[in-house]
Amino acid sequence: MATEKMEFQTEVRDMLNLMINSLYSNKEIFLRELVSNAADALDKRRFLSLSDASLLPVGTQLRIDIEVNKDQKRLTVTDNGIGMNKEDLINCLGTIARSGTKNFIKNLKDSDKASVDLIGQFGVGFYSIFMVAKKVEVLTLKAGDTQGYLWSSEGTGEFEISEAPRDEVGTKITLYLKDDEDAEDFTSEWKIKDIVKKYSGFVNYGIFFHPEATKNDKGELEVKPEEKLNDKVALWRQSEKEVKEEEYKEFYNVICHDGDEPLTWTHSHAEGSQEFWSLVYIPSKAPYNIWQNDSLKGLKLYVKKVFIMDDCKELLPPWLRFVRGVVDSEDLPLNVSREILQSNKIITNIRKHVIKKVLDSLQSMADKDAAKYNAWWRELGMILKEGFYMNWEHLDELKKLLRFESTKTEGDALVSLDEYVKRMPESQKEIYYLVGDKNAVKSNPMLEAFKAKGYEVLLMSDGIDEFMMTSLLEFEGKKFHDISKGDVDFEKTDDEKKAEEANKGLFKGLCENLQKILDEDISEVRVSSRLKDSPCCLVTSEDAMSAQMERMMKAMGQKNFQKSKRILEINPTHPICEMLKAKAEAKEDLGDWPKALYGQALLAEGSPLPNPAEYVSAITKLLTAAAK
Ligand code: ADP
Repeated sequence: MATEKMEFQTEVRDMLNLMINSLYSNKEIFLRELVSNAADALDKRRFLSLSDASLLPVGTQLRIDIEVNKDQKRLTVTDNGIGMNKEDLINCLGTIARSGTKNFIKNLKDSDKASVDLIGQFGVGFYSIFMVAKKVEVLTLKAGDTQGYLWSSEGTGEFEISEAPRDEVGTKITLYLKDDEDAEDFTSEWKIKDIVKKYSGFVNYGIFFHPEATKNDKGELEVKPEEKLNDKVALWRQSEKEVKEEEYKEFYNVICHDGDEPLTWTHSHAEGSQEFWSLVYIPSKAPYNIWQNDSLKGLKLYVKKVFIMDDCKELLPPWLRFVRGVVDSEDLPLNVSREILQSNKIITNIRKHVIKKVLDSLQSMADKDAAKYNAWWRELGMILKEGFYMNWEHLDELKKLLRFESTKTEGDALVSLDEYVKRMPESQKEIYYLVGDKNAVKSNPMLEAFKAKGYEVLLMSDGIDEFMMTSLLEFEGKKFHDISKGDVDFEKTDDEKKAEEANKGLFKGLCENLQKILDEDISEVRVSSRLKDSPCCLVTSEDAMSAQMERMMKAMGQKNFQKSKRILEINPTHPICEMLKAKAEAKEDLGDWPKALYGQALLAEGSPLPNPAEYVSAITKLLTAAAK
């Protein structure tokens, strides 16, 4: 086969461009990515050999070897893992299949150079080598094949593939380093050792460094023996007492390709009818790709210390998809398949255990360090909220983990349901909440009467809140009440009740008048008992879809839902309403006021105006009249 020239896919080219011109200072992560790919390849070879022993002859030591050549500015990483055939080379080192990558590239372009660090999370770690190499060669033979291949590229638009002799199964990657000082550093022995120890100490296969031959005093070439750089294997199989905090953190950085510290972790060993180990981390920040389910790392599954798979989805519910770590079972069969996993008692048991551990550690974090927990909640709480409409088993634990902003929280503070219930005044019977646009919900006029009464209202503005509230019906016997729906039913004094009745009669004429003018948009106009300072607000009848839900359905492109007409409530003590009442009694035209009031009510709750021009014209006329 002659040498074939091929073009990189456009996304890859974009990526390479960014790498070649990268000013990112932490370039050493390329070695972490190479070693991690090599370890994956070794995992795959070992795994496939479980069903086809010929792929791994008895006595083969699976390993990774690193060599340097200072004069030629060359660095080589070799593994005897699964290897690649021609097709693999084209597919894996020429295209990007995964969906999260575009976002990653965009993020990099947009500024934040630090995010190069996360390259491994996006399944494109290989390309980071072009931060330091001007040319790369990949010589490889796939297990079970006889023909080897050589892939090479300078990281510009193209790569080349040719047949090449190779006796050993596995992959040898040679980097010809750039001429700048940064890159030259990567032929230094201490530097390489340092990087490998830092990032890859926990790799499950031996990583060996081969020092360059040096001349001794007599001018003879001396070859020093290879040196093993890693020895900390299977951290999760050690007892909790043996492992240092630093080691836990290092291990997290390795398996997550993440330089941050985890929020917390839980490490346990279960014995009895089943034996397994689990080391489970809760990240402190949302992984970049948390919304792209396909490229998450999740929990790694091992059986008897043998790696089986990354991201074993059967071990975690989707609402805990931010969790990272390792599960190692002594009882599952080594040749476990997806089908077995899906209906397996052992897996179900481990899953239960993991869920409990994660929820317990979150609860204990929340009890011990509220500020830390609240910060975490702001990052990842919305994923946990998905738990409310996807499961019925853990609702009680989840309810205790919920945090909200409210009419009584300030700054970074959040309130839990426990706290909310504890500080409810005696006269308050239900848990009040309001869902709305993030910027508007705090100042929604509907809150006025509740504030005046001293009743706290939970404020929600995550997209998921409406859905969550359909499953969250009560807490400790107290019902949840959406204050934008139905009538306000909190206890009123006799005087308040009398005044309300009287106002109903007094404002009847104005209400009818407004109704006629706004009939297209409004189902009813009535006197409000929830307003203090604002002239009016819009509420929804008890059984109708809330305004927030309607906005979301629209945003999701749903067109076929019946838009419900709202109820306009007016404030009998507000000067505007009093003035309009007088006009109505004198049978005067209400002019631009109804349109203006309706527009104000929409804006106050963060809803868009159906007809902005009409609203602006009404307001301009009223302002002009006031200016005269
Ligand atoms: P990721 O490792 O996250 O999939 P990379 O860009 O680092 O993303 O690598 C792309 C693919 O190239 C890998 O998934 C693997 O299939 C292949 N690959 C890379 N390095 C090796 C290697 N040393 N041995 C075998 N396959 C490899």
